[in-house]
Amino acid sequence: MVSTYPTFDTMPIGDRWRAGSAGKTRQDTDPYSGDTLTEIPQADAHDLDEAYATAVARQRDWAVQPPAARAEVMRNAADVMAARKDEITGWLIRETGGTIAKAELEYGLVRSVLWEASSMPHHVEGRIMPSDIPGKESRVYRGPVGVVAVISPWNFPMQLSNRSVAPALAVGNAVVLKPAGDTPVTGGLLLAQIFEEAGLPPGLLSVVVGSGSDIGDAIVTHPAPRVVSFTGSTPVGEGIAAKAGLKHLALELGGNGPLVVLDDADLDLAVRAAVFGSLFHQGQVCMIANRIIVDAAVHDDFVDRFVKQVRELRVGDPSDPDTHLGPIINSSQVESIQDKLQRARDDGADVLVGGDPFGPTGQCLPPHVLTGGNDVATAREEVFGPVITIVRAEDEQDALRLANATEYGLSSAVFSRDVERAVRFARHIDAGMTHVNDSPVNDDANTAFGGEKASGIGRFGGQWAIDEFTTDHWVSVQHTPRQYAI
Ligand code: NAD
Repeated sequence: MVSTYPTFDTMPIGDRWRAGSAGKTRQDTDPYSGDTLTEIPQADAHDLDEAYATAVARQRDWAVQPPAARAEVMRNAADVMAARKDEITGWLIRETGGTIAKAELEYGLVRSVLWEASSMPHHVEGRIMPSDIPGKESRVYRGPVGVVAVISPWNFPMQLSNRSVAPALAVGNAVVLKPAGDTPVTGGLLLAQIFEEAGLPPGLLSVVVGSGSDIGDAIVTHPAPRVVSFTGSTPVGEGIAAKAGLKHLALELGGNGPLVVLDDADLDLAVRAAVFGSLFHQGQVCMIANRIIVDAAVHDDFVDRFVKQVRELRVGDPSDPDTHLGPIINSSQVESIQDKLQRARDDGADVLVGGDPFGPTGQCLPPHVLTGGNDVATAREEVFGPVITIVRAEDEQDALRLANATEYGLSSAVFSRDVERAVRFARHIDAGMTHVNDSPVNDDANTAFGGEKASGIGRFGGQWAIDEFTTDHWVSVQHTPRQYAI
């Protein structure tokens, strides 16, 4: 029986856990009950400096460890998680407002990424290049970039931090991680405790918990990180791209996913996938279906069945096993969703299912189903809440036009009984991911992918992660003396 981790009121900065120096404290609250989970003295730019300086100082020793030593830390971390499963899922439920099913999924994804990361140290390979100069040998050594900055959002905080942190550490980097303000524990401090218990040497993973205005710019512009791995909204991602200068960037940004139902779709299947694919975790998922585009031939039937299933969903306490939708992360998100709903009504959308926010914090928002055009506010913009707009398409060609009529290109889905027809359709969707006869929310950790258009640059997972967090160094050796013509 392991004892639970101590209260998370300090953060690992450089070599030790301590309070941040900003002189202000932020409460970490449970979005369902409003209870204070912990209070954390925030970090400032000096703390960030210390984190980066220590990362630079410790990284070289880590990089020359045998691959097996780094792999072992990743495997140990997965084992630590197994021993602490209830503690971890408890934090995920309380801090993110996710249901038990969401916490279990996130817990499983994080462990899968750790296992995958444990294989990465042995897959960092250099090469020998041909040379036209007699006696010259051209070697390419592949090694870690050095220091990686990771910035993560609040919706799947542990997974979206770890999918960068674990591969970056595994291939020999040091990491400075900034979790979102609403999820400092599951987005950073809990992960740091797990890695520490797994044997990660001090100084290689610092977590800076602080406000965007105190450390947001500095974490990106500081000279130490060579790669900035950001997951979050498109406007913030664009701001980071503007200030990152010559650093490498991995940007995983917003989405406005279409789920397309063609006229020959299995409607039962499409409805079930659409309920999960639009409302899982209260719709606060980047890959969620923000719009359901349905062929006119099956539109009314689909709407009836979908509405019936959505009405059966239970909203409330996320720790209750019967709850399908927990609270929205904070009150300003509730307001932002309500603003989009109001503007969609003004744009002419019909609300078929709705309701007012309720619960101890007023953040439990019932699911909303709207019908309307592709240009009503809730279809045009990423809602990031339990709101789905169903859009009628005249035919297959119209459905494709509507699916692509968005600035985003993250995930998408298409339903048809004719798989090859669906694949042909899928290949014309301008997105990084399209799933045939399945939800657009990808729960397959080892095929994590990325977006196109305003949904970002870069990919996640597998070989891509190894490539992103390592770099080539060309070292040539002249074995025989040369004659130089000057
Ligand atoms: P956000 O962009 O507001 O914040 C993300 C992170 O950036 C947080 O840690 C935040 O503190 C930090 N941040 C904010 N301003 C900053 C600045 N000026 N400089 C540096 N860092 C700054 O996003 P959010 O509200 O936390 O998350 C929701 C958004 O994230 C949605 O748009 C969603 O689609 C997107 N998202 C994308 C993916 C993906 O893989 N593509 C995954 C999850 C979420």
